[in-house]
Amino acid sequence: MIRYALACDKGHAFESWFADSAAYDKQVKRKLVTCPHCGSAKVGKAIMAPRLATSKKRRAPIEATAGEAPAAAPAPSPPPTPAPVAMISPQERELRAKLKELRKHLTKNAENVGGKFPEQARKMHYGEVEHRSIYGEATPDEAKELAEEGIEFHPLPVLPDERN
Ligand SMILES: [Zn+2]
Repeated sequence: MIRYALACDKGHAFESWFADSAAYDKQVKRKLVTCPHCGSAKVGKAIMAPRLATSKKRRAPIEATAGEAPAAAPAPSPPPTPAPVAMISPQERELRAKLKELRKHLTKNAENVGGKFPEQARKMHYGEVEHRSIYGEATPDEAKELAEEGIEFHPLPVLPDERN
């Protein structure tokens, strides 16, 4: 069974059941379908005003959420002050430790004669004073003169972090 919404030529709306659409066509042609209100046989399928499907509303376009600006990035911390760095191999670390030990030994067991080192070294070399361990300072020229006179001395090891 199928139900049709019908209307006559006078505008009366009514409904009627039919076995199928073919049965509807046959009965309408034979004028077997009449308006229950006026008896008119001039009936046809009611022209239904199309209902606006409320469930198919156009979705609002998805807009960029202008109000949601990304959170302000935290103020960048000031860059750390560059410091001299070095990759030190285990061998270098060991050598550095030995240098430090040697320097410590020298400064502990020798007399610091400061700027008088060339003079003292020369006196010891020429037997004017007793030999002893001393350390001090010498300009490059003084060191060169001592070397030329055959006076043996060694530069005091200086560690990188003590060169300030
Ligand atoms: Zn009618």
